[in-house]
Amino acid sequence: MRNASIRVKITLWFSVALIIVVGLTYAIVLFAENTVIYKTIKDNLIETVEEKIDEIEYYPYIDDDDEDDCETYIRYGNGYIEIDDSFLKQENKNYTVLYKSDGTLVYGSSPVAMELSDFKFENREVRKLKSGETYWYVYDRKIEEPGLEGLWIRGVTSLEAGAAQFSYVTRMSLIALPILLIIAILGGYHIAKRSLSPFNQIVETAGNIAQGRDLKKRINLGEGDSELHKIAQSFDKMFARLEESFEAEKQFTRDLSHELRTPLAVIGAQCELSLGEDLTLEEHRDALKVIQRQNSKMTNLVEELLTFTRVERKTESYKMDKLDLSRLVSAVCEDMKLVAEKGILLTEDIEPGIYVMGNRDLLTGLLINLINNAYKYGKEDGRIKVSLRKEENRAILEVEDDGIGMAEEDKSKIFNRFYQIDSSRSSEGTGLGLAIAKEIANFHSGELTVESELGKGSTFTLKIEAIR
Ligand code: ADP
Repeated sequence: MRNASIRVKITLWFSVALIIVVGLTYAIVLFAENTVIYKTIKDNLIETVEEKIDEIEYYPYIDDDDEDDCETYIRYGNGYIEIDDSFLKQENKNYTVLYKSDGTLVYGSSPVAMELSDFKFENREVRKLKSGETYWYVYDRKIEEPGLEGLWIRGVTSLEAGAAQFSYVTRMSLIALPILLIIAILGGYHIAKRSLSPFNQIVETAGNIAQGRDLKKRINLGEGDSELHKIAQSFDKMFARLEESFEAEKQFTRDLSHELRTPLAVIGAQCELSLGEDLTLEEHRDALKVIQRQNSKMTNLVEELLTFTRVERKTESYKMDKLDLSRLVSAVCEDMKLVAEKGILLTEDIEPGIYVMGNRDLLTGLLINLINNAYKYGKEDGRIKVSLRKEENRAILEVEDDGIGMAEEDKSKIFNRFYQIDSSRSSEGTGLGLAIAKEIANFHSGELTVESELGKGSTFTLKIEAIR
């Protein structure tokens, strides 16, 4: 049973349930019908016997005039018993016979009654007696009319006569129910098989993907509202996301090795040069300086990578506090004014008293990164404006510059890891700064977006939930 397929299990369960229901229906119908039928047979027997009593009368003597063809006269005691001929008429297979109390037959000729004549009389009681292989209902009635004392009428009817009275509907249903049951079970099995067939498709696709054969595979059950369609759609979405993250992972490894290859190659070349002959002290120093620069570039890269992974994977539990964002932004601006590269002027417009739940170090890092970029990609004697305000329940932090800006197609890409628009725009940098900033925004359930125009400047906006 454990290993049986779902459709076999479903079919088995509902078959058992159906059989129980049908069985119970049978039992109830049969029981009800039995009770009704046998009660009717008994009532008929009593009624017939009671009617027959009226067909027997006592006469002290008989005139010739009294004799007629429809009646029988039998001597009894000091007079006569007059019996209608209809006494012998069978009604509903009820036989009636007239006896004396000692069991001698007075009138009637039913062979059945004869067979049962050994049984004692019991007044006004229907009994079930067995003679040979057959069961009978027997009803005895003592006649109490004056002159007829000591006479008994016995009514007899067979129980089998009752069986013949089973209604047509019952008999038909007894035949039809098992047929219907078989049809229902076969139909149910077929429907279960059909509706569960997409399962195989799901299992197969998931199996293929699990074995790493083809990440591009989808279940593709098509349109439909059934539970299985919904499961298949969710699986397909999950597969798509899996594929995306596998791809991103691959890309990341490619990019990272590319990023590391350049400084390592430069270091290697400088070492070789330095180990060569006839180099002046000055030339050695120059080579070492290059190596030092590349080393610090790589250290920077490794550190940024670590930060990125920590925020993205949440490997470190960053403490979330209630922060006065207004004060944090002012403090960072004060520090960053000191950079004052290219004669750029940093101004701020900060609405006081805006609080958020956040991590101080991460949010500070994000803002420093945005302002640094604004300096880096700003024009000589340009301006940077940092503003903070509250809109509805959100804190809106903007860093606006009038620098070199960027083309439309770059706007969505600058948040990708290692993406740099054009390395000639800046010799430093790793292309990880904005990717980290975006992860920090995500970490705070906020969003980081950019508006920019080539040659005119850019505005980076962080939206994050404000608290009271
Ligand atoms: P990088 O280390 O190169 O600065 P970032 O992730 O911080 O990496 O930025 C990605 C790219 O986005 C940069 O190479 C730069 O070209 C562009 N960029 C970032 N900030 C600005 C800005 N304020 N103005 C124009 N371009 C920007």
